[in-house]
Amino acid sequence: MGILDQLGKTFSQVTDRAKFEAEKFQKTTRLQAEINELRRQIDQKLMEIGQRAYDLQRAGQIQVPSLAELAAALDQLRSTLLVREEELKKAQNEVYIEPTPAPPPMQSVPISEAPAPTAGQKICPQCGFQMPATAIFCPACGTRVVK
Ligand SMILES: [Zn+2]
Repeated sequence: MGILDQLGKTFSQVTDRAKFEAEKFQKTTRLQAEINELRRQIDQKLMEIGQRAYDLQRAGQIQVPSLAELAAALDQLRSTLLVREEELKKAQNEVYIEPTPAPPPMQSVPISEAPAPTAGQKICPQCGFQMPATAIFCPACGTRVVK
């Protein structure tokens, strides 16, 4: 066999392999899609059977304890769902409320204000004693009241 024949054979082997892989891919992909669709339809029918069984159970036309249990569990889930849906609606409608600004601090009024000296008098800065404006020393505490 010549070298060209060898190459030709190798080439055709490669294309055969590629063709095989492509067909295999196509076939498995098609089958997988068909399987997925069948599973979806089976789930759909199961759901319909469940709905029918639920309706019959609720209508009292069938009395199957396990079915009654399932129906009760379904009712429980549905009522929880209703509550959660209400909570969600409420949460979605919540708006941010600006905090009300704190009232300005009360003007601090000193409880005991130093009494204003009457005319011709002065007050000792040390003890608050009122004395004649001419006094040099406070007669009460002895502090010098003239600078
Ligand atoms: Zn004094």
